[in-house]
Amino acid sequence: MNIAIIGAGAAGCFTAIEIKRRLPHTKVTVFEGGKKPLAKVAITGGGRCNLTNSFKEVSSIDSVYPRGARLMKRLLKEFGNQDTCLWFENEGVRLTTQPDQCVFPVSQDAMEIVNTLTSLMRKHDVKLKTGHKVTGIVYNEEEQENRYSLDIQTPTGSSVYHATHVVVTTGGSPKKEGLRIFDRLNLETISPIPSLFSLCLPSHPITHLMGTVVENVTAAIAGTKMKAEGPILITHWGLSGPAILKLSSYAARYLYEHEYKATIVVNWFGGEREENILNYLNDIIIRHPQKHIQSIYPQQLNSRLWQFILHECGIKEHIRWAEIGKKGLHKLASCLSSHTFNVNGKNRFKDEFVTCGGVALSNINPSTLECKNHKGLFFAGEVLDVDAITGGFNLQAAWTMAYIVAKSCANKH
Ligand SMILES: Cc1cc2nc3c(=O)[nH]c(=O)nc-3n(C[C@H](O)[C@H](O)[C@H](O)COP(=O)(O)OP(=O)(O)OC[C@H]3O[C@@H](n4cnc5c(N)ncnc54)[C@H](O)[C@@H]3O)c2cc1C
Repeated sequence: MNIAIIGAGAAGCFTAIEIKRRLPHTKVTVFEGGKKPLAKVAITGGGRCNLTNSFKEVSSIDSVYPRGARLMKRLLKEFGNQDTCLWFENEGVRLTTQPDQCVFPVSQDAMEIVNTLTSLMRKHDVKLKTGHKVTGIVYNEEEQENRYSLDIQTPTGSSVYHATHVVVTTGGSPKKEGLRIFDRLNLETISPIPSLFSLCLPSHPITHLMGTVVENVTAAIAGTKMKAEGPILITHWGLSGPAILKLSSYAARYLYEHEYKATIVVNWFGGEREENILNYLNDIIIRHPQKHIQSIYPQQLNSRLWQFILHECGIKEHIRWAEIGKKGLHKLASCLSSHTFNVNGKNRFKDEFVTCGGVALSNINPSTLECKNHKGLFFAGEVLDVDAITGGFNLQAAWTMAYIVAKSCANKH
């Protein structure tokens, strides 16, 4: 067995280590187009690496993996978040779970994860070839020993590498060119597009409230069922924060197809129904009739946002609650439950994005991650049409799939 792994990212390095643990005498070579392995892992989680999630607040796998939920549901049973934690802890990495259930190394340093993986690769004698970009994969059906030929490009020239098994862990790429290496394999691919971005509201006055966070809102796309909940952040270009990133993930394809133009409906009361918000406002009127409307307001909003909302509703901020009138009250309840914003464009969130699309799951056996049409060809990580919301779920998918591929390779031996 001579195994070639394409891509020294999270999935590629983890696969290499796991294969060598099972098959110490097998030759495993990882080809990496970049200068260093794990370059992306080094910048994950703002340099702190949110390597998994406790999954304690995950209501369903579908809610965190908009693409690939069925596959992940199956695979996480074999290697889930607790297995990931144990795996790294066994290697001496101490982990901590934040109140938002994201798991980080105690060191708060992504390089600890990078160094752990690279030293394990060295320990297990994994051959790492950086500066080796694979430009094509050829499947030689009749052959055993040289079943796969990889076209390799280096800064000094090109060459061909032969392997009995190939694991593709090239990660995501929102450009179609990233999928060219599969041209001669006749695979079904799903056009790759970005996911996880914030939304632009060009010249919208709410952007003057940049830095404002509202902890618990729902954000939905008008005319669809796509909705996400969580904190929202107002930025100088528009809307961001966990609720918006989650929405961008659920609606990645929809927003792409609509050229990132859509009407977003924000419920500032965490999805509360309008009639309940009306009751809440009526309660304020009963309890504080003589108080100025600008001084008593829902505690989840700050005074600047409250004044903005009053202004949007045409309510003068110096009137007293008793003076709001029926029309004003209904307008306010309606705005608090469904404040609409016309989005035009997207923006990166802290340079973080993942790819929606890639190699279609229809090509692979969901138990082994082996290609149905090409024996000995496996896929793991973001190159597949699997991606998640933020919170450590994307790296968890990479570790999980890498573990399964390593096990499948060992079973072939
Ligand atoms: C800024 C940023 C922050 C993120 N933070 C988090 C986080 O905190 N938690 C989380 O869960 N997820 C996070 N993500 C997402 C996460 O990093 C990815 O989902 C994950 O790295 C995917 O792992 P992978 O192994 O599939 O791909 P990658 O880690 O991207 O690795 C793919 C590797 O393949 C190489 N490669 C590609 N094509 C070729 C080729 N033809 N030949 C040779 N080599 C090739 C690439 O150079 C790369 O090194 C973040 C993403 C970004 C961009």
